[in-house]
Amino acid sequence: MTQLHPWQAGYAVRRDWPDGTHELVGFQAAPVEAARFLQRDRWYWRRGPLRPRAWDVVLVSRRDFELHAVRHDCRSPDCPRSFTPEPDRLPRSTGEFVESGE
Ligand SMILES: [Zn+2]
Repeated sequence: MTQLHPWQAGYAVRRDWPDGTHELVGFQAAPVEAARFLQRDRWYWRRGPLRPRAWDVVLVSRRDFELHAVRHDCRSPDCPRSFTPEPDRLPRSTGEFVESGE
């Protein structure tokens, strides 16, 4: 795994819950890794009676991610939202980003 400095930008998975709170989980260095984490996480939660309302990959620094991890029931509108990669600006490996359609 790549070593990251605290101020370095990375990608995390944001879970939005039906009650309006959200979490940031699964910090990764690359968007494709965050997308994989998202797929696994969605698979995990689909079995539960209580499920997140939505998942997104967001751009966040490692430091902000760690600060966010200690917040509970966060509802701040200032938190990072959906990061949509632009295909023409990303390396070819991001073809794996495509959703597998459940
Ligand atoms: Zn938040």
